[in-house]
Amino acid sequence: MTHTAKSRLLGLWLALAVLLSIAVGSAGFSLVERSFQIRSAEQAQGTLRLAVAGLRGALNRYEPLPSLIAEKPSIKALLSDTSNPGLASSVNLELKQIAEDVGASDIYVIDAKGYTWAASNFDQPHSFVGLSYVYRPYFQQAVEGNLGRFFALGTASLKRGYYFSAPIRLQGQIAGVVTVKIAVDALEADWRGADSDILVTDQFGIIFMSSRSDWHFQSLQPLQPATLDEIKAFRQYPIDQLGRLNLQRKPIGSRGAEHFTIGIDETEKHFVANAMAMPEAGWEVHILTPTAAARTQAITVIVIAVLVLLLTILLTAFLLLRRARLVERIAAQHAARELLENRVAERTADLNQVNTQLLQEVEERKQAERQLRKTQSELVQAGKLAALGQMSAALSHEFNQPLAAVKTYADNAATYLDRDRVDEARDNVGRISQMADRMAAISKHLRNFARRPQEKIGPVSLLPVINDALAILSAKLRDRHTNIAFAPPAKDIRIMGGRVRLQQVLVNLISNALDASVDSDRETDIHLTIEEISDRVRINVRDHGSGLDADTKSQIFDPFFTTKSPGEGLGLGLSISYNIIRDFGGHLLADNHPDGGAVFTIDLATADQMTEEAAE
Ligand code: ADP
Repeated sequence: MTHTAKSRLLGLWLALAVLLSIAVGSAGFSLVERSFQIRSAEQAQGTLRLAVAGLRGALNRYEPLPSLIAEKPSIKALLSDTSNPGLASSVNLELKQIAEDVGASDIYVIDAKGYTWAASNFDQPHSFVGLSYVYRPYFQQAVEGNLGRFFALGTASLKRGYYFSAPIRLQGQIAGVVTVKIAVDALEADWRGADSDILVTDQFGIIFMSSRSDWHFQSLQPLQPATLDEIKAFRQYPIDQLGRLNLQRKPIGSRGAEHFTIGIDETEKHFVANAMAMPEAGWEVHILTPTAAARTQAITVIVIAVLVLLLTILLTAFLLLRRARLVERIAAQHAARELLENRVAERTADLNQVNTQLLQEVEERKQAERQLRKTQSELVQAGKLAALGQMSAALSHEFNQPLAAVKTYADNAATYLDRDRVDEARDNVGRISQMADRMAAISKHLRNFARRPQEKIGPVSLLPVINDALAILSAKLRDRHTNIAFAPPAKDIRIMGGRVRLQQVLVNLISNALDASVDSDRETDIHLTIEEISDRVRINVRDHGSGLDADTKSQIFDPFFTTKSPGEGLGLGLSISYNIIRDFGGHLLADNHPDGGAVFTIDLATADQMTEEAAE
């Protein structure tokens, strides 16, 4: 996969991950928000219970108060003699004191007709004294002998209050009613500043108490005309202040919690609402918790969840990509290895082929070499024969001269014999004999020259051969006053060759050295040394003559090459010697010594000590 394709795939992954996370987030949001709303509703239950307990405590505290006040003799005295203004004044003061002591808003005494004779607020501008409360239900309940309870907006005080009333009995007859009014503002004050709003509705669903004053006298449900009539009759609430709260409610959860939307558009607010009934007062207490906190929590949770999901998807994508890359790399390595193996196999096959070809070529070369050797040997033989042909001219020259000389000497000898000059005749016969010897020598050489190289070779002890050669040459050496320096080796050295032929070569080399040393006046003219180097033996013959010039050196082993005057040399010695040594599997080498003179070296293989000495 190319780099751009990979990044495109990664981009697609990312987009998918974001989309998926957003989809999951928005799908889960309402669920999570709902669960937080339920939780906040559950938490609000506690606050609600406390608020209800507070209300109940307040009501219970004041409930027995009117009955107690109704038993007071001063109250009873006032109602039995309402025409006495002194009594009314003292009751007024007494009621004011009690109201102050118990924290009641107002306490007042009404006669059986609903007329107020004394009140704790007698000295206030909104004094109840002289007012009629016949229309109020609490009055009617008490006048009928019951304990009365009522809540309403005070018609004189314009303060919302809760009214407790009890009958005042005079000789078994109900002569009036004592009413204790408590202001609810103080109770509401406790609810303000909390996170939640608390409101109390009456049996009509009208908000009577609330931590928010703008909700006062607003109803949660539509008001029926009969309800309005009743409110009017009791003067419970000011009709002009009654209204309907702009409310939409929706149940959430199973424990009676509801979702309240209050207000419209910009003023719209959302709450989780819980309610608890207070049957003893005919109330329902509601607690409204704003959903903003639940929403914030839900958003936080969803954001975290979306991030975690996104991260998980990205991590998975990353891991998958890494895995894919790894698989790709392994595949690439595999392919590379396979390629390498294939190449190695190909190369091996090529090498094997080349090897086979080489082996074939080696075999062909060997075959060619064998053929060459055979041809060479045939050529050498043929060359010898050709040389023999060439030799004929030289031979006729070589033989003609002695033959002519023999003829002359024979003629002379005959003449000397005729003249009885025996000595001269003998001298000539002697010369004839010398000529015959010379011719015999030439023919002997020629016989050697024609000999086949395949003649047997074998181990030969070197020292006896050298000694024989020196013995053969001893007379000549003596004649020429020439010394040969030779230190025989300590142990017997055996070479591969033929005894007689090797001796012939040695005699030839030493003779040539002797010839070269003619002008020398040295004491030791010729050095014969033997070197043994591993399985080879080198026999060196060195003289102190003029040495070999370049021209001589290049053709020294050619047949009939000689620098000697006719009659002295045939130019065959070295040529024959060269062939003999080569037949032994060795080499004959000619060179100049660094200190002057020529060095001839016979290089031969040493023979195995155990091999029998058999060769000629
Ligand atoms: P010949 O001795 O009959 O000439 P050789 O084949 O033995 O034939 O020698 C060939 C030639 O090699 C000689 O004529 C001589 O010129 C040269 N030669 C051989 N041995 C020596 C030597 N020791 N020093 C200088 N020249 C040599």
